[in-house]
Amino acid sequence: MSLATKLAEERRARLAAEQLLEQKQAELHAANRKLGRHARALSEEINETRAEVKYVRDENHRFKLDLSEAQEKVQIAQRRLWHSIQAIQDGFAFFDQDGKLLAANEAWIGVFDGLDEIEPGVTYIRMLQLATEEGIVDIGEMSAPDWRSMMMERWEDPQPEPIILRLWNDVYIKLIDQRGPEGDIVFLALNITDTVRYESELNTARQKAESANRAKSAFLANMSHEIRTPMNGVVGMAELMADTNLTDEQKLYVETIKNSGEALLVIINDVLDYSKIEAEKLVLHPEPFDLERCIHEVTTLLQPGARDKGLELIVDYDLFLPTRFVGDPGRIRQVLTNLLGNAVKFTLEGHVVVRVVGVPDAQDGVVHVHITVEDTGIGIPEEKIQHIFGEFNQVDDERNRQFEGTGLGLAISRRLVSLMGGEIWVDSDLGKGSAFGFQLTLPVADQAAEPDPTITIPEGLRHVLVVDDHPLNRAILEKQIAALGATARCCGSGPEALEMITGDGAQKAPVFDLIITDHNMPGMDGLELAQALRDAHVSTPILMLTSSVGYAEMDPARRHLAALLQRPSPRHELFAAIHRIEGAPWRDTPKKAQIADGARAQGDAPQNSPDAEQRTKPIVLAAEDNRTNRLVLDKMLRHTNIDLIFAEHGQEAVDMWREGAPDLILMDISMPGMDGKEATRLIRDEQEATGRAPVPIIAMTAHQLEDGEGGLRRLGFDGYLGKPMRKSAILTCLE
Ligand code: ADP
Repeated sequence: MSLATKLAEERRARLAAEQLLEQKQAELHAANRKLGRHARALSEEINETRAEVKYVRDENHRFKLDLSEAQEKVQIAQRRLWHSIQAIQDGFAFFDQDGKLLAANEAWIGVFDGLDEIEPGVTYIRMLQLATEEGIVDIGEMSAPDWRSMMMERWEDPQPEPIILRLWNDVYIKLIDQRGPEGDIVFLALNITDTVRYESELNTARQKAESANRAKSAFLANMSHEIRTPMNGVVGMAELMADTNLTDEQKLYVETIKNSGEALLVIINDVLDYSKIEAEKLVLHPEPFDLERCIHEVTTLLQPGARDKGLELIVDYDLFLPTRFVGDPGRIRQVLTNLLGNAVKFTLEGHVVVRVVGVPDAQDGVVHVHITVEDTGIGIPEEKIQHIFGEFNQVDDERNRQFEGTGLGLAISRRLVSLMGGEIWVDSDLGKGSAFGFQLTLPVADQAAEPDPTITIPEGLRHVLVVDDHPLNRAILEKQIAALGATARCCGSGPEALEMITGDGAQKAPVFDLIITDHNMPGMDGLELAQALRDAHVSTPILMLTSSVGYAEMDPARRHLAALLQRPSPRHELFAAIHRIEGAPWRDTPKKAQIADGARAQGDAPQNSPDAEQRTKPIVLAAEDNRTNRLVLDKMLRHTNIDLIFAEHGQEAVDMWREGAPDLILMDISMPGMDGKEATRLIRDEQEATGRAPVPIIAMTAHQLEDGEGGLRRLGFDGYLGKPMRKSAILTCLE
């Protein structure tokens, strides 16, 4: 090989070696760079891990601190809880699921009175044994094993009811046990000795109060009866004495005796009613009744008082409102008597109006009846208004100190109305007057059962003249007449009426079919108007409304009146009186005459009793054990057209009824031996068995009717007369 070749080869070899070296160097460089990057990443990672380790270490340290702090707190809380449990008066213990005592406070352990065995570890069963063996618990009639098994049943029960245990020292505990989720049981023994003692004291006190209340009610009921019986003598005799020849002074004395007696009876009734309501003994006796008639009965009763004070007593009964409802008429009458009585009492001049309106609820067949009693009296100061429905509350100022009363009337009325499911209210203007109202929801009575009294006017009656000085009376009458299809013209005085009827000659006077006039009018009264009309040869029938029938009856001008009626009177009575007017131009159809006769026929003798027609005097048998009452009855009825015979007890009454044929029996309810109820039952039974004609029996009693009049009817009575007996009431009943 040549040198050049060799050199060329060496050069090529060197070049190749240099290239290789270069390549290796580049590779080495790349590897170095990679290594550098790795080393950086690694040291970063190491740094991070180090930081994390430090954080975890710190956290661990903090947790350890927290944990020991928490442990300390738990220990403190446990200590405190235990102290509290120790401090409470009630026993506390808890057992594990095997029934071993884990812990109990002093109160619990104290019950076992220092027994060494009672400490943590003792079993529940052993505790029960100690409780019975040592006589710690009063187990009453139970045997010790029974008591223990009863207590063990509670242990098994997941939710036992608390139990009351009595300990040997008269301490009562209420044991409440609660099973925990792990099966352990916590017991709480509450000391309820004070509560039990208090309850028993309360019980004794309540029993005492109840028996005292019963005694009070019985006492009041008896007293009211005992007082009413002699009052019968006092009021009755005074009434009789008033009918004899007396000097004016004697008359005054007799009137005072009678009025005081009656006032006393009102008070007794108030007190009795109130105590009954208080004792929740007052029971309502709903029955079908005529509300309009009921209102008029009350106004008739109060009319004399109103008349003496010159007050107009007016009833405005909604024309389109039914009159027959189902309710307790006695209690409704009582509320009305209270409100109307007050209105008359606290009104010195003007009028008292009873307004009755109603909102029917056709769906339920009831009517929401609103009754208001408005007066033009002294009124009630605003600050006193909310108190007057309270007990014994009277507006005690100088102005009304002159009025008597118990202050119970409105309290009783309020309670009665609420007992009947209604509401009572008052609205008053001091010095101007008051309006008391109450609302009752009453079912409408079955009209077919007792037909509604006829409220029509005769067909031919077209034009009526109403003469009344009181605008309200005129307005009401005008409304009533117009509603029935006739026309009413009104005037406010006698002379005005005279002028209207007779005319002044030149002008033709209007023609009236009927004149309805008031009695008391300033200038010319109703009777003077009647006289003047007849003097002027006006023969139009005149019907006069008066608050004093007796007084009007005695007036010579009475003969000019076609009818005389007590005012205010129910519509049906007014229209029945119009129907009855003899010789009136419209009285032509027999049908109308029948309506009028129908109204009168009620008191007629039964048609199947020819005996009654032949007999001149009806026989009335009065069964009455009280001598004074017999005397009063005898005197009251001496001058009437009846034969009065007496029985002194129930058996005698039955015997006398068997022997004779009394037309009516007045039967006292309470009599020694056979009482009135028993005697009536015997008579009714015998009548039914023998077919003998029924005799009307009227109960007489000084007691309040427990079951209302309906109750008496069920016992076979036909009616009821309250004692003290009033001559007028007996006469009405006899009629
Ligand atoms: P009494 O009428 O027996 O005093 P109430 O309970 O009936 O008892 O009435 C309580 C009081 O309410 C009355 O004393 C009277 O002061 C007042 N009062 C009741 N009704 C009226 C009335 N119509 N006008 C004015 N005051 C009245």
